[in-house]
Amino acid sequence: MTTENHHNPDYVNKLASAFTVLPNSHPTPDAKREAMIDKPAFGQVFSDSMAHMSWTEGEGWNDRRIEPYGPLKMDPGASVLHYAQEIFEGLKTYRHADGSLWLFRPDANAERFQNSATRLALPTLPVEDFIGSVAAVAKTDRNWVPSRHDYTLYMRPFMFASESFLGVRKAKEVEYCVIASPSGPYFPQGIKPVSIWVEDTYFRTGPGGTGFAKCGGNYSASLVGEYRGIANGCEQVCFVDASTKTYLEELGGMNMFTVHKDGHLETPSLNGNILPGVTRRSIIQLAQDDGRDVVEKMIKLEDLLEDIKSGEVTEVFACGTAAIVTPIGRFKSEKFDVEVNGQAVGEYTAHLREHLMGIQWGEIEDPHNWMWKITD
Ligand SMILES: *Cc1c(COP(=O)(O)O)cnc(C)c1O
Repeated sequence: MTTENHHNPDYVNKLASAFTVLPNSHPTPDAKREAMIDKPAFGQVFSDSMAHMSWTEGEGWNDRRIEPYGPLKMDPGASVLHYAQEIFEGLKTYRHADGSLWLFRPDANAERFQNSATRLALPTLPVEDFIGSVAAVAKTDRNWVPSRHDYTLYMRPFMFASESFLGVRKAKEVEYCVIASPSGPYFPQGIKPVSIWVEDTYFRTGPGGTGFAKCGGNYSASLVGEYRGIANGCEQVCFVDASTKTYLEELGGMNMFTVHKDGHLETPSLNGNILPGVTRRSIIQLAQDDGRDVVEKMIKLEDLLEDIKSGEVTEVFACGTAAIVTPIGRFKSEKFDVEVNGQAVGEYTAHLREHLMGIQWGEIEDPHNWMWKITD
């Protein structure tokens, strides 16, 4: 698939055409939609359509459709409600200045969705259906993609066990949907360093757990820690490893990087607890393109705090699709309170953010063929 020229929409459109667009008798009126997409917050309003596919053990994936957005009909016995057999993804549709619509590395999300499915004992979704469903929603609801810079149509594919039964086993009936939310920046205050609570009591995952899978359960497990951070005056939480409480892993929904005095970068290695971010992967590539070394390793919290104080580490940032690249200005816990770079935005952090966003918004060349065009 990587051999395709993704700047030509023909291939994506072929995948999208597998989805039958069902009529919507109650589309949102133009004026109301325009108001809704003018300056939306993150993830609060949803577009008119959703993709939907069903899976049964006997038939496999079937019934590819784009239907009006609306409540799902679900049996109260559906096993997702009891045992949380569920996974999701997150990616954005960008409207470039010429009006064309694009996705950023949807093949990487599709591949991760398969890895998440395998871990949660759900059926894997073909990459073609993942990309096709996302593109079909974006095309059907193209008027819902904001044109204001930094505003996108945030796409949320998800899969869950819909079979009604209370025994503990993998479901024989599964649903897959894609919903879309016109969204503004995740941190509306713009590029401002965030403060991080280092959580060492409540963990989101552990060895052999589901940390590398994008599943709802990881997020429910992270909430108590997130609120402990907020109660301590921090905006985000960073988790340390559950077995030794020594190594930094990641934020609730973002990966982490450090920038060093000699220019090289470090990021926690993918040890099974950490979600392999598409942004993380892209940042590693961009830094290497800049001629910098990127070291993936276990990062000791104690060492990081020392390195920040000594000036060995000059910048720290978090990254993910929703918030892109966000500087970290402070690490706090019951035992320490350490400022990074005088809480200023680091120079290389800002450069990486500009570079990545430049590619995503079609303002900077895309040498790795990361952008997939959906429509002119
Ligand atoms: C989604 C997610 C990320 C970021 O992944 P991207 O592909 O860059 O959006 C990081 N950590 C966790 C826990 C996540 O769920």
